[in-house]
Amino acid sequence: MNKEFAVFWGCTIPARFPFIEKATRVMFDDLGVKVHEQPGHTCCPEGTLVKANDPDAFYTAAARNLAIIEKAGLDVVTPCNGCYSTFKEAQSHLRTDWRQADVINERLAKEDLHYSGDIEVMHFAEWLSDSMGAALIASKAKKNFWGMRIAVHYGCHLLRPQPAVRWDDPLHPKKVEEIVSALGARVVDYPTKMQCCGGALDRVGQRDSSLAFCRRKLYDLQNNDVDALVVVCPSCFQQFDLNQAALQRANENVNVPILYLSELIDLAYGHTPEEIGMDMHRVSVQPFLDKWEARSADKTKLALNFDVALLNKCDSCRACKDDCPVCKVDPTFQPNDIIRDLVDGKLDEVIAEGQLWKCLECYTCLELCHSEIGMAETFRKLKEIAIEQGAGPESVPQSYKMFMETGTLGKPKQSARKKLGLDPLPEDGGDAMSRIMSNTDESKGAE
Ligand code: SF4
Ligand code: SF4
Ligand code: SF4
Repeated sequence: MNKEFAVFWGCTIPARFPFIEKATRVMFDDLGVKVHEQPGHTCCPEGTLVKANDPDAFYTAAARNLAIIEKAGLDVVTPCNGCYSTFKEAQSHLRTDWRQADVINERLAKEDLHYSGDIEVMHFAEWLSDSMGAALIASKAKKNFWGMRIAVHYGCHLLRPQPAVRWDDPLHPKKVEEIVSALGARVVDYPTKMQCCGGALDRVGQRDSSLAFCRRKLYDLQNNDVDALVVVCPSCFQQFDLNQAALQRANENVNVPILYLSELIDLAYGHTPEEIGMDMHRVSVQPFLDKWEARSADKTKLALNFDVALLNKCDSCRACKDDCPVCKVDPTFQPNDIIRDLVDGKLDEVIAEGQLWKCLECYTCLELCHSEIGMAETFRKLKEIAIEQGAGPESVPQSYKMFMETGTLGKPKQSARKKLGLDPLPEDGGDAMSRIMSNTDESKGAE
């Protein structure tokens, strides 16, 4: 399946989150996709409410929806985990229960439809990942998410049960994170990543339990300094956006902006939050947008002084992590962590914290570096910036002043030299050096 297919929106997106539909349509346009929509669809249908009551109605409705797409000669992409799971499960079940498939097809024949189960059903994250590819998606970005810490919630029904779904690893998925990472963000792993959103508990009258699921994950995300959570399912979005807003109204200290994956891609492609209706979220995305803008400014500042691509390469490597002689005796100095802070846009914090002065510029890391990058030059540059800002240790500007005035950092001990029978040293060149440098300053000033 490449760039022409049917899209199945389900009912939650158009009914409750039309901005997700808008963002996804905008993304499809940008990716040059032609989507087809057929009349006559019903709910996929939802599993908990329909299948528990009537499995026959569940499989018949699912087969009918797929038969409509099959009749149009198309495959289908859906941006809803629930619809994806329903279709995948129906395909898996009806493939083996051919008696039930025959019964359903007798019913469908009255509408001139036939279900064969042969069409390809893809979740839109699956289509992005497997048909487009993270690199191609990222190549169209006008602005990336450098310095932003983003976590992903996959949602159970995108991954499991594996016999029906078979996409990413059901317990250790990574494909959505690869897209987010390709867009320049730092993907944050977090302990409750694979915990179900718990939203279905709302549908069976278990409101408190549903909120408990929501709360647990949101606090976990906050503890991991996450700037936003990306989801790929409207039900998960509902749980973490709407129910988070309910927690906020109850004065709980939670604030994690929730973004649907297509919204994130649209922002990277240069669309404004207003254009794609992000102001319709219940939990404001403004903190995310503000930080994104600030990080972009940080990146510009960083790029003035450093090769950001090299810093990124170094950050993703960390091979010499335990080899720095300083961190062996002083574990509070972790040069790779300082590189990471720089990559995360924390230049000012790194300067203010002062750990950078512990780098001895011994070049051990450079000698060990298979890419010939090393960190000594980064620390040297950081020291230069720190001094410009008046943030270095006092001894540094004092010594520099002495050098500029005398051309040396220490006068020879004449009495000790005499005692050892050493001749007096020839006159030093401090005055000449000082003159040269003051002329240099004048000529600089005259430019
Ligand atoms: S899974 Fe949910 S959103 Fe999708 S069609 Fe069914 S009820 Fe609607
Ligand atoms: S140059 Fe600095 S960071 Fe690299 S090994 Fe030496 S002290 Fe550590
Ligand atoms: S200095 Fe070289 S070896 Fe060390 S983390 Fe950076 S790239 Fe890797």
